[in-house]
Amino acid sequence: MVEGPAADLGLSDGEWPEPIRSDWSVDRSGEQVTARGEIHATARLDCVRCLKSFDLALEVPVVVHADRAGRGRHPEQEGDLERDDYMRFHDGRQVELGEDVREALLLEVPMAPSCRVDCRGLCPRCGAELNEGPCGCATESRA
Ligand SMILES: [Zn+2]
Ligand SMILES: [Zn+2]
Repeated sequence: MVEGPAADLGLSDGEWPEPIRSDWSVDRSGEQVTARGEIHATARLDCVRCLKSFDLALEVPVVVHADRAGRGRHPEQEGDLERDDYMRFHDGRQVELGEDVREALLLEVPMAPSCRVDCRGLCPRCGAELNEGPCGCATESRA
């Protein structure tokens, strides 16, 4: 288990209020290293419907392939990698995972987050928060 503040990954701790944790298993085969991890993080987002901020727990699997720096790979081999995989070179001793973790997390953040699936948002007429009950406009409307 690796745990560290979001700032260590270059992420804002306003948007990532909890420490970012990840579990890794590493397979080594000769010069090649494959690290498989699961990242646990909490993103603080603003609901697009009601505009309130809320925390969204994310669990993101990530696979990092590393090879000794400078050894090179043929492009067609890289094309075989799955979309969610990442290729990195390492210095023979250590695989730098921070950048992969950061990218994987940012990809996982929804473009239009809502605090819950049935968030009713704000009334377009009076701005009341409809999660807390009808504002009165609904009864007047023709719909
Ligand atoms: Zn909402
Ligand atoms: Zn209203």
